Amino acid sequence: MDLPTSVEIVEVGPRDGLQNEATNVPTPEKISLIEALTAAGIGRLEATSFVSPRAIPQLADAEDVLSGLPSGNGVVYGGLIPNERGYERAKAAGVGEVVLVGAATESYCRANLNRSVDKVLDGFTPIAARGREDGIHVRANISTVFGDPFEGRPDRDQVLRVVSRVVESGIEDIVLSDTIGIANPRQVFDVFTLVREAHPDIDFGAHFHDTRGLAAANVLATLGAGITSFDASIGGLGGSPNAPGAGGNVATEDLAYMLAQMGIETGIDLDLLMDASDLLERLVGHPLKTRIDRSLLDDPSGAR
Ligand code: ZN
Repeated sequence: MDLPTSVEIVEVGPRDGLQNEATNVPTPEKISLIEALTAAGIGRLEATSFVSPRAIPQLADAEDVLSGLPSGNGVVYGGLIPNERGYERAKAAGVGEVVLVGAATESYCRANLNRSVDKVLDGFTPIAARGREDGIHVRANISTVFGDPFEGRPDRDQVLRVVSRVVESGIEDIVLSDTIGIANPRQVFDVFTLVREAHPDIDFGAHFHDTRGLAAANVLATLGAGITSFDASIGGLGGSPNAPGAGGNVATEDLAYMLAQMGIETGIDLDLLMDASDLLERLVGHPLKTRIDRSLLDDPSGAR
């Protein structure tokens, strides 16, 4: 099996995870969590979101989180942004990367972003240009590429059309998301193969949810399609408030464990990652949605 020797895990828990929690984690604890994650070897993460505090009160402290993080450590702290106003805030807060969100399907796009797919994509071009000017990396995350809670699967032409429009906007880093966790391994292999053939110079990443227990299988199929960047959320937190039936993101712990077992380098120390996981469990006050835990790592039968 032809697999990459190293893979980048992009941690999205502080944003995608915490925004779906009922508990509001205080700012200093968010900073401690992010520091625990970077101590474990996470080098790139979505630290927060610069959306309206009214829309997502859990992340209303975006500026304070960013200003409390250590700099000069080589870690790329990213922030999700909904528009140019969000870009202004993210830039002022000193992010290294901004993440724009689009969608492959109209129903989800209108429910989640209040605009049509094309209207949302229209907003990408000026931000891509500003990012280039300011030296801020711009990443696009396209939701519902593999299925929409209201209208089902977009066909290949629709996925290709949306991806092409993102490329035309000047963005060279595109994440395809299985927002509701409905993708299957054959589908993700086909879609990632298709977009890579159409756009060989673009960096593609994958964002999977584990709603139906297929995230690990989808990761494997995506590795087979040559993709080496995966979003993951510590504790398997996450979901989507506007996507009925969405389960949590693939857990960073599970993904890091699987890749380590396969001999694929991620730069992550599993013991230190478990420290971050334990901290998160205390902060959110409920059991995490991981399949691997510390007791399995310590298994004398040789799990490591
Ligand atoms: Zn997600």
